[in-house]
Amino acid sequence: MSDCLFCRIIARQSPADVTYEDDAVLAFKDIYPKAPVHHLIVPKRHIASLVDATAADATVLGRCVVAARHLAEATGYAEKGFRLSVNTGPEGGQVVYHVHFHFTAGRRPRPDA
Ligand code: AMP
Ligand code: ZN
Repeated sequence: MSDCLFCRIIARQSPADVTYEDDAVLAFKDIYPKAPVHHLIVPKRHIASLVDATAADATVLGRCVVAARHLAEATGYAEKGFRLSVNTGPEGGQVVYHVHFHFTAGRRPRPDA
């Protein structure tokens, strides 16, 4: 998957400000933050989009959600709260086709934003 930006970041072939890592998951700061705190959480295994996810991906996707708790604690937003979101497909606003969870915090989001 050398043509995938996030696979290159996972392989350390492209730079990123890594904020969390375990055997299945990597998190790094979004290069164009849309909130005061904005990290991306990605499975290390390439899954292009949530519409490509199968039952075999359930564990790693769940691990991404658990990684959000680690980021919340590390950034001081566990109590105040945060948002976790996955843009999916062209009308869902997905630009990078390697599943990623946006972790945003530090500003109250609009209900539908
Ligand atoms: P999406 O629109 O959901 O596919 O989100 C892609 C996100 O990746 C955007 O928020 C971008 O700002 C972010 N992004 C793009 N390139 C990089 C990069 N090299 N390092 C970190 N974040 C990136
Ligand atoms: Zn990838």
